[in-house]
Amino acid sequence: MSVSNFSALPTQAIDTLIQSTLAPHVQAIDREGLFPREFMHALGNLGGFAAALPPTSGGLGLDLASQIDLISQVARTCGSTAFLVWCQATCAWYLQHSDNAAVQARYLQPVAQGRVLAGTGMSNAVKHLAGIERINLRAQNDGNGYRINGALPWVSNLGPDHLLMAAAALEDGGYLMFVVSTDTAGLSLRPCPTFSGMEGSGTYGVRLKDVHISVEDVLAHPWQFEAYVERFKRGFLLMQTGMGAGLVQASLETIHTSNQRLSHVNCFLDDQEPSLGQELLALQTDIAHLAAQGTEAPLLNVLRARARGSELSLKATQSAALHAGAAGYLISSPVQRRLREALFVAIVTPALKHLRKEINALESLQAA
Ligand SMILES: Cc1cc2nc3c(=O)[nH]c(=O)nc-3n(C[C@H](O)[C@H](O)[C@H](O)COP(=O)(O)OP(=O)(O)OC[C@H]3O[C@@H](n4cnc5c(N)ncnc54)[C@H](O)[C@@H]3O)c2cc1C
Repeated sequence: MSVSNFSALPTQAIDTLIQSTLAPHVQAIDREGLFPREFMHALGNLGGFAAALPPTSGGLGLDLASQIDLISQVARTCGSTAFLVWCQATCAWYLQHSDNAAVQARYLQPVAQGRVLAGTGMSNAVKHLAGIERINLRAQNDGNGYRINGALPWVSNLGPDHLLMAAAALEDGGYLMFVVSTDTAGLSLRPCPTFSGMEGSGTYGVRLKDVHISVEDVLAHPWQFEAYVERFKRGFLLMQTGMGAGLVQASLETIHTSNQRLSHVNCFLDDQEPSLGQELLALQTDIAHLAAQGTEAPLLNVLRARARGSELSLKATQSAALHAGAAGYLISSPVQRRLREALFVAIVTPALKHLRKEINALESLQAA
């Protein structure tokens, strides 16, 4: 099942890479903090972060649906790494949609091709713009660019010599979005407390103390910010649905295999392979349609699709665990790992509660 013309993707090469370079390390990524650096660089070399970008930007010249499928292909094996693929592809997407040629000239091709890895620290700003929390980063215009102060509690796909993309509020109003290297003076990375999974996601707390951002590193100045967010936000949300789709597909495989031995008792469970498969197909059809509409896709429908992706991942991974029984409860089993990965899909910004808040606001507006 896919949302794109899957055959146009280098799926065979990506699958070989997943089996050789990612699959043997999934447990170490989940629990021991192994960051899949080699896989990320090799996937970038195959165009794995830039399916939706034109060849002039270092991309495969396909479409957003292809990028979503690619993320889901990775998520079938490792949800944590699929999130890193989303982070990297989203940073390439930010660069592609910037109006500023200088920032594109510096970073677009290296990020699109995975030569330089990049984290997106946008959760706080996205939640701030939805009226959920205060913004953490402050910017001051220093005549020669900007100075940034503040901290972000968790940003993934980071490490020494990576890039961070984030947004800050200006003292006199408006917002700025920028790129900064993690090696820049004044920027420090702090290890996070141990998570219940996804330990190899390269997630750090980031502190910025008087960090200088030159105009060449600006993705959007305050006067560009609103239109800029409008251009990238549908892609940002739709690409996240790839993480959930891969988890659902892997869960369907678990259910299928378990039923070969245990269907006489598994048939009493609520969510069965045919109904979950149908829900996935319906969701993927809707996502393909929305992805093809680009910035014209109705935001309400995009938010609903992202929320359905979270709900279906929770339901399918739980059903797979119930079908697999004790075998799925072993710490070595991918079945229990996927429960935790699905939970992450539902709590990473925009979390399910955040999505429902925005959906409710848009529905109320439409009803008025
Ligand atoms: C493994 C992991 C990876 C993540 N990667 C990224 C990423 O790459 N980029 C990104 O922008 N965000 C990232 N996040 C943050 C994520 O997207 C959410 O914003 C975050 O989980 C908070 O959402 P919430 O719904 O719990 O917020 P709310 O329920 O609204 O929580 C309120 C606030 O309290 C803060 N908070 C709660 N507990 C703690 C704590 N122990 N220390 C510090 N702050 C705390 C939260 O950050 C949040 O801002 C990551 C989170 C996790 C767990």
